[in-house]
Amino acid sequence: MSRIDHRPSSGGTAHRASRPAEALSSLMGPPGYLDQIFCAPLPCAHPYQTNGHTMTPLILNLLDLSTPEGSFTRHEPDDLLIRVDDLGITRGDGIFETAEVLHGVPLALEAHLARFAHSAAMLDLPAPNLDLWRRVVQDTARQMADAEGTTAVKFCMTRGIEDNITAPTGWALGFPAHDATEVRRDGLDVVLLDRGYRHDVAETSPWLLQGAKTLSYAVNKAALREAERRGAEDVIFTSTDGYLLEGPSASLIARIDGVYITPPPSLGILKGTTQGDAFVALEARGLTTRVDTLKVDDLASAEALWLCSSTRGAAPIRSLDGTPVPVDHEVTEQINGDLDKRRA
Ligand code: PLP
Repeated sequence: MSRIDHRPSSGGTAHRASRPAEALSSLMGPPGYLDQIFCAPLPCAHPYQTNGHTMTPLILNLLDLSTPEGSFTRHEPDDLLIRVDDLGITRGDGIFETAEVLHGVPLALEAHLARFAHSAAMLDLPAPNLDLWRRVVQDTARQMADAEGTTAVKFCMTRGIEDNITAPTGWALGFPAHDATEVRRDGLDVVLLDRGYRHDVAETSPWLLQGAKTLSYAVNKAALREAERRGAEDVIFTSTDGYLLEGPSASLIARIDGVYITPPPSLGILKGTTQGDAFVALEARGLTTRVDTLKVDDLASAEALWLCSSTRGAAPIRSLDGTPVPVDHEVTEQINGDLDKRRA
């Protein structure tokens, strides 16, 4: 990994204020209050574990969202910035996106921004200024242009401080992504897990926020641990009435009778940015794609299955509940080759 310059940006977009404490105090109550709270060391310069892998943050930009135009400032990744009474921490009340970065450029950025705005609307959060978020993600990605291998930017917006909501909290964190070579080559052992909702939950119970990319991923992580207990590595969620949905951090693509099919977002699942780009690539090769519902019984006729996500690309499924699934290595390589050729 190349060395990354952590010094604050001198770019025109940067918010010139402030050490974190000054920024925080402008959002807060009486003097001295700052001394009574603790700051959570959110992005820490020391490696920490995510999904069993080590992730060392490289670049951190903190947003000031107290004005409509907003601004952002570069910080050291181990600066103490997030208050422990931030609703993102106490309630998981916020949204996020993770975009893959190649050669310093965030991929599928417009699709990520559109989904970010959609998630914000579902949570009744202030509409994000997409121009500002675009610039902060691009700036974060650009600082990692010299890094070896793939990197990614995770950008988050929370509702703000509990009992004193004046502005959302926002940041963009750049970090090295996991190497996807192995999973793309060897495939995934996957289990089906019931998500516990009907297929029409998004329509009947929108307050359950199915289909929003919220910071509340504890359930998704628990599902991955359940998969591990069952000797697998990943999950396809199903609805209580037998529809195939998505993985805890990936979209599903199935090939049935030569047609590449993914379930629709109307089932309360995310509109996958990687799946979207994979479909564009498949269509460019003259193959047929379709967004359509799939039921568990359809798996019996699946010729191949993939879980697709920003940092892994298209990972083939090699077994489902312990039963081998055919892997189409050639098409997998084609899809991932096409995904890796994206430049924006
Ligand atoms: N579904 C869920 C629940 C996810 O968390 C993700 C990504 O993290 C995806 C699908 C795939 O989305 P993308 O391809 O945009 O990474």
